[in-house]
Amino acid sequence: MGEPRVCDIGEREVIRRIRRRLPAPPDWLRTPIGDDAAVVRPPRNRDEVITTDAMVEGIHFDRSYVSPAAIGAKALAVNLSDLAAMGAEPRLALLSLILPADTTVNDLDSLVDGMLEMAGRHGVTLAGGNVSRSPGPLVVDVTAIGSVKARDVLLRRGARPGDAIYVSGAVGAARAGLLSLRGAQGTAGQAPGDGLEELRARFLVPEPRVRLGLLLARNRVASACMDLSDGLADAVRGVTAAGRVGAIIEAEALPIPAAARRVFEAAALDTIDAALEGGEDYELLFTVPRRRRRALAAVLARVPGVACAHIGHVTAARRIVLRREGVERALPAGYSHFTG
Ligand SMILES: [Mg+2]
Repeated sequence: MGEPRVCDIGEREVIRRIRRRLPAPPDWLRTPIGDDAAVVRPPRNRDEVITTDAMVEGIHFDRSYVSPAAIGAKALAVNLSDLAAMGAEPRLALLSLILPADTTVNDLDSLVDGMLEMAGRHGVTLAGGNVSRSPGPLVVDVTAIGSVKARDVLLRRGARPGDAIYVSGAVGAARAGLLSLRGAQGTAGQAPGDGLEELRARFLVPEPRVRLGLLLARNRVASACMDLSDGLADAVRGVTAAGRVGAIIEAEALPIPAAARRVFEAAALDTIDAALEGGEDYELLFTVPRRRRRALAAVLARVPGVACAHIGHVTAARRIVLRREGVERALPAGYSHFTG
């Protein structure tokens, strides 16, 4: 007899195990979990913001080096990152779990616990979901709903020539963390003290910039905002295309951690290109008009753990230029889901 698996306990018991782990629901959730659908009282005078994102085994994670708890936490975190990019306050999530029959009950519990820990930290209620058997990979599909005052919502469009471009946290960290987890050559001899643990953590469980997004929105600091799910280059392209503007990005200003630089160099990658193209950082890219710079400083003082780097500015000319050691060239292409 091995460890119990989900096929041994059946769907009903899987749902019971998940339900048992949930904290008491807030009063705006009008139905107990387990009815045909969730009934939710909407927040007063606010618009709802809805997003969905799935994590698929073999595409987004490899169970040989990603724990079930990290899979659960990240599946919610990537959705919260999208809400943060809109300036929304997260409120509830729905979980669709597609499980291979041989998933152990322990792994199921850990995955759900990882997700609920992330949910608890951000005040998110798991309001319902669905469980199904997978004939192949493990799939964790999450829908998240938040709310924002209509006039505060952050959109991708809205960047104007002269606006400063900022990015939160670090770029390239998640990609370097993934390379390190995969055992990229040259990194095996580095001790955790070299910063590798931090890079790996950024890949395994990104910290969605929920509070920063909320404050940027409430204080009307950002003219445009987008999260970095597919890399910084992709986000710059997204914001400039939506605003029908261009940008100049200063390579020397990019917040690339020293440990990530070492990982890229060991893997024979160009440091700047690797950081620009590297996906999964889940930071926020945002633009700030000159007259809102002082308000930005006040916002940043309220998120002391999150540094924001001024990495360039918006231009009227609709080109994206990377300025590096005085030389200007086009920005490299970002990661693409169907070709990468
Ligand atoms: Mg996004």
